[in-house]
Amino acid sequence: MSDAAAGRLSTADLPMFFEPHHHDLAARLVAAAPAIAAAEAAADEPARDRAAVAAMADAGLFALVAPPDGAVDAWALCLAREMLGHASPRADSIFAVQGLGTYALGAAGGAARAAELAAFARGERVAAFALTEPDAGSDVAALTTRATRDGDGWILDGDKHLISNLGLADHATVLATVDPAAGRKGITAFWVPLDAAGVTITRQDPIAPHPLGALALRGCRVGGDAVIGPVGGGFRLAMQTLDTYRVSVGAAAVGMARRALDEAARFVRARHQFGKSLADQPLVQAHLADMIVDLDAARLLVLRAAWARDRAAAGVRVTTEVSIAKLAATEAAQRVIDRAVQLFGGRGVLAGAVVEHLYRAIRPLRIYEGTSEIQRTIIGRAVAAAEAPTP
Ligand SMILES: Cc1cc2nc3c(=O)[nH]c(=O)nc-3n(C[C@H](O)[C@H](O)[C@H](O)COP(=O)(O)OP(=O)(O)OC[C@H]3O[C@@H](n4cnc5c(N)ncnc54)[C@H](O)[C@@H]3O)c2cc1C
Repeated sequence: MSDAAAGRLSTADLPMFFEPHHHDLAARLVAAAPAIAAAEAAADEPARDRAAVAAMADAGLFALVAPPDGAVDAWALCLAREMLGHASPRADSIFAVQGLGTYALGAAGGAARAAELAAFARGERVAAFALTEPDAGSDVAALTTRATRDGDGWILDGDKHLISNLGLADHATVLATVDPAAGRKGITAFWVPLDAAGVTITRQDPIAPHPLGALALRGCRVGGDAVIGPVGGGFRLAMQTLDTYRVSVGAAAVGMARRALDEAARFVRARHQFGKSLADQPLVQAHLADMIVDLDAARLLVLRAAWARDRAAAGVRVTTEVSIAKLAATEAAQRVIDRAVQLFGGRGVLAGAVVEHLYRAIRPLRIYEGTSEIQRTIIGRAVAAAEAPTP
């Protein structure tokens, strides 16, 4: 998407929701967007990813997802992902997974961890988050990757797949069980260098612009200090990670949808059929109206969830608000982008068209970090259990 009207991002339309430092961040994001979008012009995927990492590092963006104390500002994260979704969905996925991959380190705490996080905050190193397995997707507690004691260290064996950032990541947070009989209480998080003996990475090619791979661990030995947090505390850390990042998936969806609307509006103004601009056709205007209504509603739900996430007292979960935002925004963005393709006519389905790129880019957002069905399950369960409707 190098032809970027990149970085259109506004905090001015909702002044009541943003604080001064958010306006400053938005200005910084808008300034960084053209360089990040330009990374997509590089010759091949590895070069594209390196250029995107460098541009995001130059703009200081990785500090937002790898703070030394693990205290991620969800609102700032959402602003960043809205801009990145608009400018470059591929860069957005790299950025978000840098956060998913390092979150447990910050949350578990400790000075040594904080020092290690600094290189990720500067974008000098890249992280991945390896939870999903071929037989454990939505049901993550069913994972079977095994960690076995070996003196003062551990041996890891198992298979992960659909793991973002593999190929460019240096380290991954890997979830494995130390005791299959203990269920989720046996799941433990490990910090694994991806150049360790016994690690094999195989590239996977999704329809979306997204670095992805499978990870095979065969007798991979890591030291005792590779354990993140308490032994048996990995499931909780993984859920905290998803709870923090899920709302930002909605923000990325909003950014992609906004880009689709920008592109479609520009196209219909310039395109003439039946002797006048398409923008003057009532049915075309109806498409644009439905797109902006979907987009605005999604953005407001995302901002509400991010606001609640940032203000929730310690131990208070905002899972329902976050699930509502993720479900609504990703489904809405899919509809908005589909309408944009429709408004472009045949040009919209040609490989290389911006809306064609967005059409592929948006699809995984309804699947990763909890599918739409899992979000509905969370929301429906909460509403069914509450005496008054939630939230
Ligand atoms: C581009 C991309 C990037 C990803 N990156 C990562 C990553 O970095 N790290 C990582 O660990 N994982 C990652 N994933 C994996 C992702 O989290 C899983 O694909 C997702 O959780 C779904 O798991 P699954 O694919 O095994 O599908 P399944 O769980 O097998 O689900 C298949 C279908 O059944 C539905 N379903 C499942 N259970 C229920 C139920 N109880 N009720 C109703 N419907 C149900 C699902 O909603 C879905 O429609 C990524 C996936 C994609 C596509």
